[in-house]
Order: sequence, then C-alpha cells, then structure tokens
Amino acid sequence: MAMYKKYGLLGANIAYSFSPDLHNRMFQLAGIKAEYSLIDIPRNQFDLDVLSKAVESFSGFNVTIPYKETIIGFLDEVDEMARKIGAVNTVVLEDGKWKGYNTDYDGFLYLFKQLEMLQKKSATILGTGGAAKMVYHALMDLGFEDISVVSRSLDSDTEFFKKARCMDYIALENRMQSSNLLVNCTPLGMSSQIDAMPVSKKQLEFYEAVIDLIYNPPETKLMHEASRLGIKVLGGLDMLVDQALEAESIWTGIEMNTEKNRMILLGMFR
Ligand code: NAP
Repeated sequence: MAMYKKYGLLGANIAYSFSPDLHNRMFQLAGIKAEYSLIDIPRNQFDLDVLSKAVESFSGFNVTIPYKETIIGFLDEVDEMARKIGAVNTVVLEDGKWKGYNTDYDGFLYLFKQLEMLQKKSATILGTGGAAKMVYHALMDLGFEDISVVSRSLDSDTEFFKKARCMDYIALENRMQSSNLLVNCTPLGMSSQIDAMPVSKKQLEFYEAVIDLIYNPPETKLMHEASRLGIKVLGGLDMLVDQALEAESIWTGIEMNTEKNRMILLGMFR
C-alpha cells in the first residue's frame, strides 16, 4: 500500500475543528496521498519533548490556540513575517528542519480585498492575542496609520502594538469618534457563547465596515447587528479557507489557492 504523508492540527481541546474536513478534502482534490488528523495536547501536558514525539511521523502541521506563539521555541527556522508577528500557524518539515509560517496573515489579506474602499484607513482591533497581532501587521502593511487596540486589561501584551492607541472597553464605549473599520479578534460570539457581542450596538453605529475573524457560527451576533445597520460585514470563514489553502501550497509545493478550490471548500460550509 502506498505511504500516506501525515499532516495535522496542533492545539488543545480542538475536537470542534473544521481543519481535518478541509485538508482531507484538499488532499483528495489534488490527488495527494496524505491524511490530516488532530494533535490535541492539553496545556498542562505540553512541553517540547511531548510535542517532538507527537509530530515525529508528520510532514507538516497547523497550529492553533494556545500554541501559536509557544511553537516558535520548537522550530529550526521561522519565516520573516511569522517572526515579526510573533505567531506561527503552519509548520513544514523541509530537509529535516521544522520551518514555521503565518498563513493567517495571507488569509486576512485575501479577506480584506473583499472590502470596498474605506473612506479613511483607520481601524479598531479588539483583543491582543495572536490573531490581533497578525491583523495589526496586516493593516500596517495595507497602509493603515491610525490603529486602536482594545484590551480587557492594559496589563495584557499591549507593548507589542507600538504605534497603536491602546485602550480598554470602557474607553472604547466612551469614545466620541471612531475608526472606519472594526476587527474582532476575540472569541466573543463563537458557537460556545453565541449571544455575546464584544461591543455595544451603540458603538457599532460608527463603523463603515466590520470584520469578525470568528468562523463558527458563519454569522456572529456582531455581524448580524452590523448588517442590520447597513454596515459592510465580513466573517472569518473565507479567511479560514484561504489560510488553509496557503498552508497546503507550502506543504505540497502545488499552487492550491485557486478560485475553484476556494469555491469547493467554501461550499462545504454553506
Ligand atoms: P487568543 O490568542 O486566545 O487571543 C484572544 C484575545 O481576545 C485575548 O488575547 C484577549 O485579549 C481577548 N479575549 C479573550 N477572551 C475574551 C473575552 N471573554 N472577552 C473579551 N476579550 C477576550 O486567540 P487568537 O488566536 O488571537 O484568536 C482570536 C479569535 O480569532 C478566535 O475567535 C479565533 O477563532 C479567531 N481566528 C480565526 C481565524 C480564521 O481563519 N478565521 C484565524 C485565527 C484566529 P485581552 O486579554 O487583551 O482582552
């Protein structure tokens, strides 16, 4: 029997993940003999020895919460953008060396392309985790100069966002004027807390566009309320698909991010 290459998703409590369905479908589409599984390691059991054993027969893997930053200590090489962001979501074994990339960054750029021109390049990012850091870099690269970052506690890792205005949610709600673009990089509104919204409806009225990185559910309460106000809204599903296609391209060396593949994968969720 032909040898199947092994790929997977490293994270903790990830039984909910769509990634095995997405990647196994992609391998099938490309006619590649490979299988994708979950590498679920609880936080209290995670160390580099445990990780090395878990991935020793793998050719590559994705990384999700809570290991996107920790994984950097395990890698032999880190791509320049992933290093700048400080987070890795895709790892490949190349000539016996583990190399890390951040394809969430590429996925976000694809998602952003779907926005019509904003009147000015000013954005508010909610959250200070790995996704918020990636979005901050992407927006800077897209020419945004006025960026605010909102955290529940300014003791969080706000030092990273050097050129941004950092504030808490009370300051955000009291702000008289807002940015054009709001990007939710918190888990508030995910399927486990479906009725939660990171900002009030009143605050929402100020924005021209809202991006919610959450992909499950495909429309969060934040997106629903913003749509009702006539605000342009994008959700995280397209980004999930695009980051996965970019990861596949890195693993297989084949250009996987084609419109046809995107449509097939998006169709799995609609
Ligand atoms: P993370 O590292 O855990 O960071 C989440 C941030 O949100 C935290 O740093 C925290 O910032 C804030 N936060 C956490 N719990 C909160 C709560 N109960 N209320 C308000 N704020 C809270 O996670 P991440 O990797 O950055 O991911 C963030 C979100 O983006 C998740 O929903 C994830 O699914 C989504 N995501 C989607 C894609 C995609 O492909 N669509 C890719 C990556 C991530 P403070 O402590 O500073 O408040």
